[in-house]
Amino acid sequence: MTVVISTSEGDAIPDAFVGLLETAELPTVDLPELGEALFLSARADGDLIGGAIVEIHGELGLLRSVVVEAGRRHSGVGSVIVDDAISAARGRGVGSLYLLTETAADFFSSRGFSSIERGAAPAPIQATAEFSRVCPDTAVAMVRNLGGHIETRLSHTVAADPTTGAVAPALIPSTTFTRGDDHELTSAWIYSRNSSPTVEAVESALADLDGGESALVFGSGMAAFSALLDTVPPGGHVVAQRIMYHGAQDRLRALDARGAITLTLFDQADPGALRSAIEAQPVHLVWIETPTNPTWDVVDIASAAASAHEVGALLAVDSTVAPPVTTRPLELGADIVFHSATKYLNGHSDLTAGVLVTRDADTRWDTIRETRKQMGGVLGAFEAWLLIRGLRTLHVRFRRQAESAAAIARHCAAHDGVAAVLYPLLPSHRSYDVASRQLLGGFAMVSLLVGGDAPAAQRVATATDVFITATSLGGVESLIEHRASVEGLHSVVAPNLLRLSIGLEHPEDLMADLDRALAIATS
Ligand SMILES: *Cc1c(COP(=O)(O)O)cnc(C)c1O
Repeated sequence: MTVVISTSEGDAIPDAFVGLLETAELPTVDLPELGEALFLSARADGDLIGGAIVEIHGELGLLRSVVVEAGRRHSGVGSVIVDDAISAARGRGVGSLYLLTETAADFFSSRGFSSIERGAAPAPIQATAEFSRVCPDTAVAMVRNLGGHIETRLSHTVAADPTTGAVAPALIPSTTFTRGDDHELTSAWIYSRNSSPTVEAVESALADLDGGESALVFGSGMAAFSALLDTVPPGGHVVAQRIMYHGAQDRLRALDARGAITLTLFDQADPGALRSAIEAQPVHLVWIETPTNPTWDVVDIASAAASAHEVGALLAVDSTVAPPVTTRPLELGADIVFHSATKYLNGHSDLTAGVLVTRDADTRWDTIRETRKQMGGVLGAFEAWLLIRGLRTLHVRFRRQAESAAAIARHCAAHDGVAAVLYPLLPSHRSYDVASRQLLGGFAMVSLLVGGDAPAAQRVATATDVFITATSLGGVESLIEHRASVEGLHSVVAPNLLRLSIGLEHPEDLMADLDRALAIATS
């Protein structure tokens, strides 16, 4: 089933919708008196299932009579028109959603609502308690122009709740949702393993952040990765990097060993290697991780996308260490972007979560959604709520972390106890050129090759006071780890490599800490 949401100017409001409005008993909608107005309709396979009228008054649009579904007024009023239309469609068990809002985007952008994009409409449209007080008996919300910057939209991730006036997002942990007298669902939700309001709130922010049509959140990064791998047909060919996050490579190797997939690894540091790997046989999935853990080689996403698409393969990008404030893989041609939200997106080392964001919500995307439902991999409501909280400060956290990391990389490069610094935004790194084009908001991870062997590197890691010796990355506290020990037996990481995740401490304290540790370890 296809749901199309389209627009027309006020003088062309379809009769069918007028009928729906009448049955919905919305007394204050006086159609002939509408001034400059926009009509939004939601159609399922051609049948009108809902609609909304937006009246434009100067800079503000007033949303009237949000979604009407099957003659009933839909319950989600006061939130977002497009969102409500989607909800109405989901409530009917619609599998595929195609949002055709280009005309809506044009309409809004000519009035300064520049951030309304395909599938990313919710954030700029805010309901206000004030307006529902003025017109309490209608489903009315005020449209606020939040401008075109993601920082602004993230700061207002979720619209203020018109019934309570709450500014902070609600946490809705309910596992189940009611049906009315007619046994029809009374909202867009059924059962929390499928989806739930807080989960969808964070998903809409994540889709907006990466510029995708839709996002799905999972209980961990690996659960998200597994759901994606599940779309590869039996024995299908997956191409991935020789050096990459070891947990994901372990999973690929395990699936390859039992014949579920065929795995080919390519050298991520060689720009021509991916193309040769792809040419060998038909490929279903190309999985790249950029920058690559822990050498921080930067793979050119646009050229990887071109290579993958030439052979009809899907390009998915693990962008965990380059969150969307520095790299937006979908804009560079990737089909799906993956993040372990455990890292920068949440940023406080207090939850595990994974996210997939898609450029197109196509049938493969429906399959992934269905897989999540069947395997039960959805993120919990509390974690979704915490993740919303983390996302709201992502841009300032990351900017500061990246600035400190750049200073620390330069500092360490001049240190006698350090044989080499691996930081892609230093001209000495082999990926410097592509990194300068692709890491637009900087980079906050640094690897050091210390003078000496593995025990020498381990001594440095244990001698730090400010850096905590632990694995993981992206939190407010700086971490240091001896990567080869963490990865274990199959590790191909240099034995003298230390991986640093730079947090929010003062960079001078971090540099002094490293100087002290290097002096102790080499004395
Ligand atoms: C942590 C991480 C993962 C796995 O995510 P989890 O949330 O731990 O399951 C995948 N890729 C990269 C680059 C990571 O850092």
